[in-house]
Amino acid sequence: MPSSQPLPPAVEALLADGTTALIRPLAPGDRAAALELHAVRMSEESRRLRFFGASRRAPEQAADRLCGPPRPGFLALGALVGGELIGVVECDAVQGRPEAAELAVAVADDWQHRGVATLLIEHLVHAARAQGVRTLEADTLAGNRSVHTVFSDLGLRVRRHLAQGEVRVSVELDESDERYRSAVDLRGRGADVASLRPLLRPGAVAVVGASRRAGSVGQAVLGKIRRGGFAGRVWAVNPHAREVAGSVAYPSLAALPDVPDLAVLAVPAGAVAGAAEECGLAGVRALVVLTSGLDGDQARHLLDSCRRHSMRLVGPNCLGIAQTDPDIRLDAEFGARQPRPGTAGVAVQSGGVGIALLGQLDRLGIGVSSFVSLGDKYDVSGNDLLQWWESDGRTDLALLHLESFGSPRAFSRTARRVSRTMPVLTVDAGRSPAGRRGAASHTAGAATPTVTRQALFTQAGITATRGIGELVETAALLHAQPLPGTRNAVAVLSNAGGIGVLAADACADVGLELPPLPAPLVAELLAVLPAGATATNPVDTTAAVGPKELRACLDLLARSGAVEAVLLCLTPTALATDPEHGPLRALLDGPARGRIPLAAVLIDQEPPVRCLTAADGGRIPSYADPQAAARALAHARERARWLAEPPGAEIPVPDCDPPRARALAEHFLRTHPRGGWLDPDAVTALLECYGLPLTTSIWARDEHTAVLAASSLRQLGHEGKAVLKAYWPQQVHKSDLGAVRTGLTGEQAVRTAFREFAGRFGARMAGAVVQPMSAPGLELLAGVVQDAVFGPLVLFGMGGTTTDVLDDRVARLAPITEPDVHAMTTGLRATPLLFGYHGGAAVDLTAVRDVLARLSRLAMDLPQLAEADLNPLIAGPHGLLCVDARVRLEPRAPFDPYLRRLRRPLPT
Ligand code: ADP
Ligand code: MG
Repeated sequence: MPSSQPLPPAVEALLADGTTALIRPLAPGDRAAALELHAVRMSEESRRLRFFGASRRAPEQAADRLCGPPRPGFLALGALVGGELIGVVECDAVQGRPEAAELAVAVADDWQHRGVATLLIEHLVHAARAQGVRTLEADTLAGNRSVHTVFSDLGLRVRRHLAQGEVRVSVELDESDERYRSAVDLRGRGADVASLRPLLRPGAVAVVGASRRAGSVGQAVLGKIRRGGFAGRVWAVNPHAREVAGSVAYPSLAALPDVPDLAVLAVPAGAVAGAAEECGLAGVRALVVLTSGLDGDQARHLLDSCRRHSMRLVGPNCLGIAQTDPDIRLDAEFGARQPRPGTAGVAVQSGGVGIALLGQLDRLGIGVSSFVSLGDKYDVSGNDLLQWWESDGRTDLALLHLESFGSPRAFSRTARRVSRTMPVLTVDAGRSPAGRRGAASHTAGAATPTVTRQALFTQAGITATRGIGELVETAALLHAQPLPGTRNAVAVLSNAGGIGVLAADACADVGLELPPLPAPLVAELLAVLPAGATATNPVDTTAAVGPKELRACLDLLARSGAVEAVLLCLTPTALATDPEHGPLRALLDGPARGRIPLAAVLIDQEPPVRCLTAADGGRIPSYADPQAAARALAHARERARWLAEPPGAEIPVPDCDPPRARALAEHFLRTHPRGGWLDPDAVTALLECYGLPLTTSIWARDEHTAVLAASSLRQLGHEGKAVLKAYWPQQVHKSDLGAVRTGLTGEQAVRTAFREFAGRFGARMAGAVVQPMSAPGLELLAGVVQDAVFGPLVLFGMGGTTTDVLDDRVARLAPITEPDVHAMTTGLRATPLLFGYHGGAAVDLTAVRDVLARLSRLAMDLPQLAEADLNPLIAGPHGLLCVDARVRLEPRAPFDPYLRRLRRPLPT
């Protein structure tokens, strides 16, 4: 590997058993540790397997090689736990084959079979790919079963050649290997869940800082743990008290009779870091920090202790956690009541919201499997919990009220997977994405108002609501009722025509359709309903309807196949509200229940939503407002539709050069450490790595060069006119400032235009760009922005200088798939123009698809890409041509969603 490449940064990641390991390049100072690893911490047999023999000098030689001075083409990574080196991996360029490197791995005996080698190899694969390595090769002994398992389980393509008891293994590092990504995801989830076990299924808990003062948070939590009937052991730690709330208090962690898995810290901010370190030294594996108001240093020390000692951390500044599994029964939070056991996983950022949400769910009879108040989210995030709920065997509904979810790229990917198995509901707080801040290009500047965040959530399979009320209303339906089919067909039934009309309007408002019912069904319905009823949709049963008639009517609708959900609206007549004999009985106990989703609207009910319970325990949500019921149904239908769509695969893009693009980005950021806009030449170089269709642009610093450039365009085969654009850094919309001159013919016109620019813009003008004038066509826009919640988005829309006025754009999460492209090209108001409106030429949609897929790949590969804006892309019947591209880079630590590592949300 070329030595010019910077070494990969030190990162923390989870081993298969949940231990936190530090993965970093080895340095000369690690020599003693490397020697000890090979000579002492590996057995004779392990050394034989690693070195193919019993050479006594092998450990010395390995330590020298691994920890020598930096050498071109060589990289060694170490895994450290608690400061101790437990495994190494190395990779060395193969002479004469720049695409290949030789790989070797060694792990201390007592750390084998815990995923150390696999994690190290994953990180090496990442680094090697960045250097352009395509194949890793390793010589192994045929009898080395564990190393063969490591290679074959990686998820990458592996080939083996057997010769004289040795196996030469070669591993292909294909950049877009979905099988590898899934394998990494799966390992990541396993490790994550293992690391959360001491937090969410602890056998023993200590509350540190539980004071005797009544009303103190620590004491409240201690009391709740006891009253909640915790199945394990619980201790109070308090140096100033012998006893707290009836329990013996121990003066320190070290004085406890045993090591707790989990410690809840309720000490003052200044004491948090010290208490965390004490916990770590004692062997605690998870912390919940209730304390708020930590300053930067205190925060960093806290997180450092957690990482060094393999403790997962919830908080700080949180309400606590609860686990309702009957085997655990841990209620370690200081909300007013005890969470009811059930199947909803709940995670909230703010404690207050948590209390409100738990209260409302409780009233609906929806219990929780686990509850976590994440607070400031230094470590454990929404991502972790989604994976926990996906695997805990107890959760069938995920509810998140968070401002962000962890790493945006990982979140999009995890959410899409988890949503396949359970509804994931969240509140979209509607915050403007970070991409908006300070963004000046069309793409990013306009992303927020037009990009419906709702659509992005939908794409990730997430049900996003606008507030807690809507969250709870929707949860009530999804929790109690089956999903509708994918057809858009709802029936509204009411015992008062007026209410039926309101409900029908509410359905229309959220995009639900009420199809006219087929004539035979109408006839059947009228046959069972009282005289005066109408059975178009909405169905008006009249106030005289009784339970028997209603039951028959619901049953007919459910079995007809004409509709996929029913909304039953009742006004409080004496008949309707009689719980035993009224129409509600028909709804609850009729055969329609369970066949299609049913929701009731009881106009006079007190709570906005409640659940009606049938004799057999089955439940139906009932709403005070038809709009709430319609919204919940619309969410259910959206989910059904999303589930019915098979997950699309990323569109492959041939002929890209990610290593070169990365090198260009790194070069720019070395010279512009705070990031910024690339100059025209750098934009061209970067976008060309991804084969994006740019027109010829020649950079001219002065008038003379501009004139030469215009004539050289003719030599390049561009017969027509030329375009001149004045350029200076930080420039925003060129044409607004008169910095674009199109249709220039001949030398003199270019000369005059340049002089005009120079006269007008003076010293700030750095030069000009000369382009051939391209044939007219529809002006489109395509681009990329980074969203704080969703990660990279690909945008598409109507472009040109009027783009902001037209404001016609769509966005999708990267990486985009075939259905995404379809949704984008058909999702604009101006979509008919793409298909050849009014005799206009149709746009080359294959070329559009190709540009969008290439931008998506670029956005995925290059996290430093803050925004890219191709506007306009001039579309003709045969392809697209971009005549104006802008790119902004930011100094972002490269985040590869397929590289397992823990977040470091705090500045170091
Ligand atoms: P800006 O977006 O900064 O105002 P552009 O380079 O996009 O500047 O130019 C503005 C408009 O000028 C484009 O939308 C397009 O209509 C026209 N234009 C620019 N370059 C060319 C070109 N090479 N060929 C044809 N038209 C062009
Ligand atoms: Mg433009």
